Amino acid sequence: MQTKAAYLMGTQDIRIGDCDVAPCGKDDVVVQMKHVGICGSDMHFYEFGRIGRRVVTEPFILGHECAGIISEVGENVTHLKPGDKVVMEPGIPCGKCEFCRSGRYNICPDVKFISSPPDQGAMRQLMTYPAAWTYRLPDSITTLEGAMIEPFAVGLHAASRGEAGPGKTAAILGTGTIGLMTLLACRADGIDKVYVSDIFENRLDKAKLLGADETICAAKEDTTERIAQLTDGRGVDIVFETAGSPKTAVQAVTLVKRGGVIVQVGNITAETPYVFNELSRLEVDIRTVFRYHHMFQKAIGLMENGTVDLMKIGPRIFPFEKTAEAFACNLAEKKDITKVVVEF
Ligand SMILES: [Zn+2]
Ligand SMILES: [Zn+2]
Repeated sequence: MQTKAAYLMGTQDIRIGDCDVAPCGKDDVVVQMKHVGICGSDMHFYEFGRIGRRVVTEPFILGHECAGIISEVGENVTHLKPGDKVVMEPGIPCGKCEFCRSGRYNICPDVKFISSPPDQGAMRQLMTYPAAWTYRLPDSITTLEGAMIEPFAVGLHAASRGEAGPGKTAAILGTGTIGLMTLLACRADGIDKVYVSDIFENRLDKAKLLGADETICAAKEDTTERIAQLTDGRGVDIVFETAGSPKTAVQAVTLVKRGGVIVQVGNITAETPYVFNELSRLEVDIRTVFRYHHMFQKAIGLMENGTVDLMKIGPRIFPFEKTAEAFACNLAEKKDITKVVVEF
């Protein structure tokens, strides 16, 4: 069977072409794609053709924030049927290694993560996928919302790594998609106060809309001073660095409470000049985040009971035929756009 897919043919060159649909195995489903979000990692491959050692070398299908409708199920599949709305979790771990067995399947060394070379992504009309990593969406959740579950799962995992919850305060540095998703996750987890800092006013306005108690415009005021004021000089329990910059990573040390936690969510490729003595005298933990585990069902529950409304993210939608435009626009207007979603 043939379908259409959007291929990255070279840097900043997306074209639609034919694609084979893999046969539906006993434990698989075939999904008719409805919405696929464009992730920061997709944009990185689009702009530069690589992320670190991961290089795109062939016509490559991007996209892993995907939701659609089941068109076919394998004979062993009992939890899904044709016509069901679904979201796919894009990482398929081995299920056998010590990390999988301990539940931290996100750090499985043999995980196949779609849209990360060599595993092709979801920007295609039909896709065969393991049923075990496909979740049914309740009637009240649209596939557009479903396509935003994946980045929300990153926020939920970050919040969980920071042990966000009642009685805690947090600062989030950066208001990109993941910063805002972390904000939603902190709120969903019942944190007391969340303060958000960035240099862009329009994004801080969005953070306010999504539930930030205070926003701090770092272009105009000193984040460290403001956090000190807001916390009576104690600092916050959790700092989420989501900007991915050595500068904010170092700043996190000045915001965190004694015995607190810094969750390093943003991807920093440059060296970061930490003075570890500053951290150790406060006995602060630094925790990293790699994707997520066990967060899709949690996300669906929080959306279904009305705790979280992902539509507040304000996705910009492009039809599948205009996938090239969707990427180009996302690149040109990255300061103003939080999430671009391709609609099939
Ligand atoms: Zn992503
Ligand atoms: Zn594994």
